[in-house]
Amino acid sequence: MSYTVLARKYRPQAFESMTGQEHVVRTIENAIKLDRVAHAYLFAGPRGVGKTTAARLLARALNCEKGPTSTPCGECKACREIRDGTSTDVAEIDGASNNGVENVREIRENAKYLPQGSRFKIYIIDEVHMLSQAAFNALLKTLEEPPGHVKFIFATTEAHKLPDTILSRCQRHNFRRISAAAMLKRLQEIAALEHVKVSGSALSMIVRQSEGGMRDALSLLDQVISACGLDPSDADVAEALGAIDRTVIHAIAVALVKRDAKTLLVHTEELWNRGVDLRRLAEDLAHHLRHVFVAKATGAAPEELAESDRDAVVALARESDAAQVARLFDVVHSSVWEIARAPQPKLALEMTLLKGLHLAPAAALPELIARVEKMSQGASGGRSTSAPFRA
Ligand SMILES: [Zn+2]
Repeated sequence: MSYTVLARKYRPQAFESMTGQEHVVRTIENAIKLDRVAHAYLFAGPRGVGKTTAARLLARALNCEKGPTSTPCGECKACREIRDGTSTDVAEIDGASNNGVENVREIRENAKYLPQGSRFKIYIIDEVHMLSQAAFNALLKTLEEPPGHVKFIFATTEAHKLPDTILSRCQRHNFRRISAAAMLKRLQEIAALEHVKVSGSALSMIVRQSEGGMRDALSLLDQVISACGLDPSDADVAEALGAIDRTVIHAIAVALVKRDAKTLLVHTEELWNRGVDLRRLAEDLAHHLRHVFVAKATGAAPEELAESDRDAVVALARESDAAQVARLFDVVHSSVWEIARAPQPKLALEMTLLKGLHLAPAAALPELIARVEKMSQGASGGRSTSAPFRA
């Protein structure tokens, strides 16, 4: 049997199993139940968050032999054909490569005819913002007077590029980036189903790299499995992703908080020798310090962290001083740009970290107060000097 990529294998087959888009799903389910399905939908949102999946599910919901229903059976001819992309009544069109007026004219011509055996003729146009102006104009004519048996579902990552005339004739749904916590949970489920022994900490590296897109996350998991097999260590996963092992990032954060210059320099040297991108390191470190700060402020580690990382973050938060962590974050975060452009990135990173050691936590609060006082003095001074001009 040929291998099916995870993103495809675990593509949701029901509205209820779509991760992170509950607000959209609820509205569409209700519309189907109340028989108030619009004739044109626009699904807008970032890549890989489920727009096309939702479009196919909606097509199934409308054409299922047991429907229209918000829970299409998945087994009838219509459901199966839509899943396999062989339905003659459901056309999936890539707007990027079919963006000309002649393509839309073909759709219009075709839309006149009744569906063959299904309830509706459904046109799913992906990346619809790529259509030419002339194509949009042609499409508009159909949207203005749609035949009753036709439904349009448009998907786009760039809704702002659509003409208002099109937007105003669609029911728009905004898809969100999937939260890190929801993605981590889903990846853990899938890893278990696939018998991959990968730690939560390693999966959270994948979550961070995929920026809220489930499809990208699953592609990365595929990549990890093919590079490292079914039992990868955190270091293996980091290497496969070109990421930096979280335990190293945490060790650096600990060394910063504890003012341990030697450990900092040893880690920097080692990462540099391994060819790690130091800008990436600074970014990851800034993120990690942010997590520590959140833990300090709320008393709990952010939910997006894996269980195993949470304890470490909370422990470090307990040992550190909020003002110190805040200032460490400032120093590291503002160095990212510098490190990326430095002729000698290692030097820039080392100096950033060493500067971080010399932030005095005890002095931080009084210093802040002094700064605030100075600012308020400056402000009142400003008023007094400007007063004569106003008078
Ligand atoms: Zn069905």
